[in-house]
Amino acid sequence: MHAAQLKARRRAAAAAARDLGRLRPVLPSRRTPDGMPLLEVGQVYATPFGEVFHPVPCEVVGQLWDAEPFGLLVIEREQIGRRTCCPVCAPGGE
Ligand SMILES: [Zn+2]
Repeated sequence: MHAAQLKARRRAAAAAARDLGRLRPVLPSRRTPDGMPLLEVGQVYATPFGEVFHPVPCEVVGQLWDAEPFGLLVIEREQIGRRTCCPVCAPGGE
């Protein structure tokens, strides 16, 4: 393969990763008593490498919080990129 092709392929891979949405977590304004962030209107839960987002604190979110609290982020809904809605949050789609 030519260097130019390699370069193009690498650029495409980087773009794909970006499309998943570079996460810009917001500082949650409210938390539960044990510290879990709560969503405001227009916000969803996401994880740095997850391909889904969560519009509600479903049981998956609870498990994420238990397993890795720092991996559970709150982002603005328009920042979801190509993440898809969690099937537990919205069975059958949104
Ligand atoms: Zn969910």
